[in-house]
Amino acid sequence: MTGTGQAKPKERPGFPIRLAPASPPGRPKAVLGLPVRMSPSRLMPQGLGLDSRAVLHNMVAKLKQQGISDALVLAAMGNVERHRFVDSALGNQAYEDTSLPIGLGQTISKPGVVSRMLELLHQGCSGRLGRVLEIGTGCGYQAAVLSQLCTEVYSIERLRGLHDKARENLRHLRLANVHLLFGDGRAGYAKGAPYAGIISAAGGESVPQEWLDQLAVGARLVAPVAGASGSSGQALVVIEKTPQGLQRTVMEAVHFVPLKSGVA
Ligand code: SAH
Repeated sequence: MTGTGQAKPKERPGFPIRLAPASPPGRPKAVLGLPVRMSPSRLMPQGLGLDSRAVLHNMVAKLKQQGISDALVLAAMGNVERHRFVDSALGNQAYEDTSLPIGLGQTISKPGVVSRMLELLHQGCSGRLGRVLEIGTGCGYQAAVLSQLCTEVYSIERLRGLHDKARENLRHLRLANVHLLFGDGRAGYAKGAPYAGIISAAGGESVPQEWLDQLAVGARLVAPVAGASGSSGQALVVIEKTPQGLQRTVMEAVHFVPLKSGVA
């Protein structure tokens, strides 16, 4: 893979992510069991005047209303504080069902889309998924959610600035099962193959052959693909690798950033 670093477990164990316990406003609180000496903006969505746990709970309730029913996916979404992954100026929008800029022209996907894709990825699996490959780390939010849903996450990003940002965002969560890689994810990451799931947060014209090759038999791939539904726009595509071959299903229309080549 072009310009790819080694898979490096960056964080110390500490799984799962523990949320700050609800506490009266103004009182110091503990996050991850440690005394907190961070600015309030890192703990609470700004401008809401609410405990982040309450708004997170609310976000998960809305996902349920939208039709997300996979209990593990909902629990994973409810375990990751999304405001930690966006600029503090955007903190008050972090729990809305909206995509937000994360720098370098890229965006963090809407919680509704993240949970939908994770539900499709996890379908047919009763417990945790095994090793999963994510293409497009971005700010690291989806990788953190995935860390709750699978045993190992390999996440690749082609933009150095975002790869570094994700590492910074994830550092304090100490997720021992998340491995951040820098490189062109179109080649997948052969060293971690075969994968129990592959998920892409960027949409290409087609699904790279390498992803299909690196998928385990019985595993699924979920990715936005341009032109998949016949129109010029993108649609979510689910590909299942069965012993008989690949089964491809085209789902709803989506709008993701493009899958690009090379690194920058
Ligand atoms: N899952 C991310 C979403 C980031 S947006 C999050 O939670 O924030 C999609 C990301 O895919 C962008 O950061 C973009 O740089 C990255 N990307 C696009 N093409 C890529 C490629 N070929 N390899 C790796 N990453 C790619």
